[in-house]
Amino acid sequence: MYISKSFIPILKNNPSEAKIKSHQLMLRVGMIKQSSAGIYSWLPLGFKVMKKIEQIVREEQNKIGVQEILMPTIQSSEIWKESGRYEDYGEEMLRIKDRQGREMLYGPTNEELVTEIFRASVKSYKSLPQLLYHIQWKFRDEIRPRFGIMRGREFYMKDAYSFDINDEEAFFSYNKFFLSYLKTFKRLDLTAIPMAADTGPIGGNLSHEFIILAETGESKIFTDKRIFDLSGEGTSLEKDSLNSLRKKYEQYYAVTDEKFNKVEFEQQVSEENRLITKGIEVGHIFYFGDKYSKPMNASVDLPGGKKDFVKMGSYGIGVSRLVGAIIEAKFDDKNEIMKWPLSVAPYDVAIIPMINKNDITSLEKANNLMAELNKHNIDVIIDDTDENLSSKIKKMNLIGSPYQIIIGKKSDGNLFEFKEVGEEAKNLSVSEIIKIISEEKNKNWFLN
Ligand code: ATP
Ligand code: MG
Repeated sequence: MYISKSFIPILKNNPSEAKIKSHQLMLRVGMIKQSSAGIYSWLPLGFKVMKKIEQIVREEQNKIGVQEILMPTIQSSEIWKESGRYEDYGEEMLRIKDRQGREMLYGPTNEELVTEIFRASVKSYKSLPQLLYHIQWKFRDEIRPRFGIMRGREFYMKDAYSFDINDEEAFFSYNKFFLSYLKTFKRLDLTAIPMAADTGPIGGNLSHEFIILAETGESKIFTDKRIFDLSGEGTSLEKDSLNSLRKKYEQYYAVTDEKFNKVEFEQQVSEENRLITKGIEVGHIFYFGDKYSKPMNASVDLPGGKKDFVKMGSYGIGVSRLVGAIIEAKFDDKNEIMKWPLSVAPYDVAIIPMINKNDITSLEKANNLMAELNKHNIDVIIDDTDENLSSKIKKMNLIGSPYQIIIGKKSDGNLFEFKEVGEEAKNLSVSEIIKIISEEKNKNWFLN
């Protein structure tokens, strides 16, 4: 891709309406464009990043055996009346009437719809567990949409649902998602900590919010620092190892403010290990038993001939919010340098040729280099404008490709000035460059 042909509307300065760095950067480099409060169009750069995040989320869901479906955005109010949430959900739900006067709604979440799909076909315990997910737009009429896509009204979410025969099996499903979330966020180069979350009015529930640390986050968190040293590395999908993984995390105090208890915190965490800070919720997993299956009558035949309501959980990841969350974690706003993790970068490499009006040899070199890199599935953006080198570098620093190649005075012969953003530049040949990037791309993420 050439900058001159791209749709990347870069602004000279930070837009004044944006209060946090992710919102500033996303508007500054034209990743998104607001269409109304909390509702955005995704422009090429933003859309590319979001689609790459989505694909990683999808792959990690598939690995634990969750099956992908796609439910509609518009739902009928009938099923929400069955579960009792039509009244309870309140003003956050966007309610619509169709031409026949039927009450419809734009889905804020899908427990009801997926329960309806499940109960229509699954009748026996032999078909359990069932794990289903979809990645779809949601609408919540948030009272205070803000921070760009971080708290939007329309947002893109992965939501999964599990159906099991009893608590033990349901916890097994829950723990699969627990591991899958650790892996997903790790591939996005984020440290997301599972924190015990509010379980709501129904007893015996289990819930974790996955939080990444950020000053601008909306969740206040209280943790034992040692939880940051843990990882899911090496955990298999066996029941026992998943159980011990969750135990490993749960031994440390880690909660958001709704669950915070000062006495417990001070008793359980020694002073030097206490951390009180803020974070961004990027995922939320929840076990709620028969909260929906009972009122909606989703039951299966048990081995002895009896019937029981299935035990359910739901598991969300804020796919669009993650775009902002990664920026909050990675953007150096003092120096105005963004470095996307290679796994989601809009372009792997930025090529910056110095172009003089009557000398296009460096542009030709750039073209040849791009052709070579493309052959190895390395995605390239070339700044083919005739701006000076320093403004080109500034621009590419905002776009955020993790690698830059400068073709200027210093690049002679077959060597190029290659740099991983934030590191020293090196003079390397094309094949050396391809080797470095390909190895990083094919890095073996933990647990196959
Ligand atoms: P929050 O406390 O931030 O409102 P929630 O508990 O309402 O989140 P869930 O219903 O669990 O969120 O949704 C799953 C995920 O969807 C959240 O973890 C978050 O990443 C994302 N999400 C929720 N609301 C929004 C929103 N208004 N804009 C963008 N992403 C959102
Ligand atoms: Mg909410």
